[in-house]
Amino acid sequence: MMGTSGKSEDIIILSDEEDDKDTSCLIVEVEAVKKTVGVLPVSPQDEDLVVTFSRRPDVLPHARYDCPIHLFMPTDCERTAPMANNQLICDQCFCYVCDKLASLCEMWCCSGECHCNSHNKSDFWNGVRNTALLGDLQRFNLTLSEVDHRLRNAGAKRLHALNRVWSF
Ligand SMILES: [Zn+2]
Ligand SMILES: [Zn+2]
Repeated sequence: MMGTSGKSEDIIILSDEEDDKDTSCLIVEVEAVKKTVGVLPVSPQDEDLVVTFSRRPDVLPHARYDCPIHLFMPTDCERTAPMANNQLICDQCFCYVCDKLASLCEMWCCSGECHCNSHNKSDFWNGVRNTALLGDLQRFNLTLSEVDHRLRNAGAKRLHALNRVWSF
């Protein structure tokens, strides 16, 4: 009887070792899945979106001035240096001027540019944003008057649609 109980203790020790092996097997499987996911995304942009989304699923992408994490200090046209904590960003902060992730903005707190201070309540910053967006359109060989005409048309159509919505 004593001998048998001794053997059962040996069996318990063996099963502990098996548990350890199971754990290491699990880690290997998780790493394999991560590698597969890394290969799947179609474009690098998609991959970035997936990664940032999985980090903070509770915060949607937003302009820096709308950041729920870092308080924004609005100014009229400050470009020489970041105001207060305006240079701070979270994973989902977008540059209002560049229309891309603040972490990718090359002029975020660059003296003389300071996109981190930009916001939509300032005529100055709206002007900077429009110029930046027009710069992109000019690459497609559109003249300024053409762009202006198209923007006005688009605005008129939107107003027309809104009026129709309200009248019903
Ligand atoms: Zn943010
Ligand atoms: Zn920018």
